[in-house]
Amino acid sequence: MGQRELIRASAHGRVNLIGEHTDYNGGFVLPTSIPQSTRVEIRPKTKSDLQVSIESSGFQKVIRYEIGSEKKNDDWADYVRGITWILAREGHQVPGFDVRINSTVPVGSGLSSSAALEVALLRGLRDAFSLPLTEVQIAQLGQRVENDFVGARVGIMDQMAASLADPKHALFLDTRDLSYQKVPLPLDRADLIVINSGISHKNVGSNSGADYNTRHVILENARVLSTVQALEAGDLAAVGRLFGESHRSMRDDYEVSIPEIDVLVEIAAAQSGVFGARLTGGGFGGSIVALARAGEGRRIADQIAKLYSEQINEKATVLVPGAGP
Ligand code: ADP
Ligand code: MG
Repeated sequence: MGQRELIRASAHGRVNLIGEHTDYNGGFVLPTSIPQSTRVEIRPKTKSDLQVSIESSGFQKVIRYEIGSEKKNDDWADYVRGITWILAREGHQVPGFDVRINSTVPVGSGLSSSAALEVALLRGLRDAFSLPLTEVQIAQLGQRVENDFVGARVGIMDQMAASLADPKHALFLDTRDLSYQKVPLPLDRADLIVINSGISHKNVGSNSGADYNTRHVILENARVLSTVQALEAGDLAAVGRLFGESHRSMRDDYEVSIPEIDVLVEIAAAQSGVFGARLTGGGFGGSIVALARAGEGRRIADQIAKLYSEQINEKATVLVPGAGP
């Protein structure tokens, strides 16, 4: 591979169907891919050139640093610095490179823009410098970037989803040992709906303030198992009920919901043709996920967003279905 060749790679955002705040407690999660993705274009440098330059559309200015001198700077480029830092720590020396980042994954909306960036960049660097990394190793490195460099206490779900999920399946993941199973989504009978509430969750480490709540986590794990069974049995009404139970648990037991999200979930769940709805992602803002009768998802999602905006002084954005990358 020529040194100056342009390398392209990408990774998708994810929506978690159920299994919230379980991943950093060694529990089960059930994410799937969304169409929105982060794309990187990498121009590798020669071995002796250690300069990195990073551009990301929508983010301020070009950032430059040198491989080997990565320091946390509390800006978005920490996610890139952290990647070359962790690669070196793990014995994968890479030279400098120029990278351009473009993303359609909304930031801070519970859809995992950070993991999409990490996985896209790690994939690109793997291709550019022939690094011997598996998809699971890429996910693990991404998590360590957040835990050990950025300082965000996150589990492994987001990176595993960005690395391994696809839009036709739910990724049933056991975060204790990273074993996983792909459960087909009944997309001939149901449309997935994802709506951004317009309220961003706080940046880095937003989960770290939430106390571990045993009640919620044990029951949420059981709900993931029940959801997998219901999906396998094609029982969409049961999936919808489990979404509702999960939401109430996040609202009342774990207390990570906010009134605006509760309104959005209530409006969604009240629409005819909706099987169920819940807050997705870490909470304190972000997005909701719902399942609706096949073919009706877009119309119903638009209706939910409209009713929400009439009730709340925020603009909801329908991300799925129909919002292509
Ligand atoms: P999310 O739920 O979207 O993952 P996080 O707070 O975990 O929210 O990560 C968001 C942060 O990740 C952003 O503030 C930014 O620092 C970084 N990030 C995500 N996407 C990009 C991008 N396309 N370009 C640059 N930085 C990004
Ligand atoms: Mg994130």
